[in-house]
Amino acid sequence: MRILVIEDETKVGCFIKRALEEESYAVDLCEDGAKGLEMALHTNYDVLIVDLMLPSLPGLEILKGTRQARIHTPILILTAQSQVDQRVKGLDAGADDYLTKPFAIDELLARIRALLRRGSTESPGVLQIDDLALNPATREVTRGGQRIDLTLKEYALLEYLMRHTGRVLTRPMISEHVWNQDFDTFTNVIDVYVNYLRNKIDRGRSKKLIHTIRGSGYMLKAD
Ligand code: CA
Repeated sequence: MRILVIEDETKVGCFIKRALEEESYAVDLCEDGAKGLEMALHTNYDVLIVDLMLPSLPGLEILKGTRQARIHTPILILTAQSQVDQRVKGLDAGADDYLTKPFAIDELLARIRALLRRGSTESPGVLQIDDLALNPATREVTRGGQRIDLTLKEYALLEYLMRHTGRVLTRPMISEHVWNQDFDTFTNVIDVYVNYLRNKIDRGRSKKLIHTIRGSGYMLKAD
């Protein structure tokens, strides 16, 4: 899951970025309003975290700009402004949630999980395909009731696959959403990680869930 944080206070921005990365999200941090809007318009994010008071373009304009471009990515406003009218303006401009500084990082993380759940209406709290289950709140993964231990990247890759079950995910899509960077087409990082995941999820089981779509990418499906 890829998240854009638009926040001009370097300390706060870096703190959020680090906390999100520890939860296995891919994170871009931007300290400028206009540049942040540009990024939101040109990259497919799963959640945007937007400060209101920003250099060059206020957060409310970023909200309006993305909604006008028909981008419906969940947006959480993060700001020191606690006044009710600011909150109302933010929500009216298309924000999905609102958190006032100072905030507890655990609350921010919980709100992001809630936004991701809402973002894809078909996915309930626990993601499930066949006998494979992933709980985004606890990051626990089980197959056939047996716990599977994954590294952060393996987990992030599996969550992305499970949120898009039955769809072909190309290597560029995977690298953008899981790695937060574009690998050039000759690196095989993604294939290597898919193999790690296969070893833990599918190895020794009669039903394989991770499928290679020749010439395109990968797909998670039950048969
Ligand atoms: Ca600010």
